Amino acid sequence: MSDPTRKLPTTTLGVQRMISMIYSGVIDYYYEEEMIIQLRRIGQVTRGLIMEKVYLPAFLDFFRWYVCLCNKLGFKLDDVLWNKYPGVCPYCLERICKGFSRGIQLESLSRHRSQTGKPRSIRGWQRLIARIYGQVNSTRSPEYLFERLREEVNEAAELAQAPISEQNLEPLSLEMADIGAWFLGTATRLGIDLESGFLSRYNWKCPSCNEIPCFRSTRECG
Ligand SMILES: [Zn+2]
Ligand SMILES: [Zn+2]
Repeated sequence: MSDPTRKLPTTTLGVQRMISMIYSGVIDYYYEEEMIIQLRRIGQVTRGLIMEKVYLPAFLDFFRWYVCLCNKLGFKLDDVLWNKYPGVCPYCLERICKGFSRGIQLESLSRHRSQTGKPRSIRGWQRLIARIYGQVNSTRSPEYLFERLREEVNEAAELAQAPISEQNLEPLSLEMADIGAWFLGTATRLGIDLESGFLSRYNWKCPSCNEIPCFRSTRECG
């Protein structure tokens, strides 16, 4: 059973640990497949208008799959995101993106990575992505953002099909960063406070079976 006195994590790393404890019974799963299923579900419910009841939990569960996949790959979410989004847009190198891409500026990014300001919490990351992309995303429709998110997930899923090796770990980490950035940007666009919503749904328990660790398979509790 979940323990209501247990403190909720305040850092990204704490959230990753909590999720790995909730789903510790699950040895291996095709998270990428599940993420695509979640995305399809999100896509479907966005076309409806039952925002509170259906859509928000599906949105939050998508993030759980994302965290599970990071855990499976041994990624620290803070590092993955900072590597590609070190306080600037990796395509225009601006602190506030105007939406004009010059192609990815990987070389110049290393200079930004050494700067301070790396967030350590989901809320911090949502704020940083909102600062970079809030303006440009406010002119985009939620449908467009979901479409981009789906594309990013498909790209990551393609890479994840090959056996995980040192060669594809770096490109996979860049794809995971994009998923995170589009996801966080979408949350902001929709007025969702991801950290609050996520922690109230996953407060040391699986929201489907109410247990820690989740006693059914994640497929059942997906
Ligand atoms: Zn930009
Ligand atoms: Zn469960």
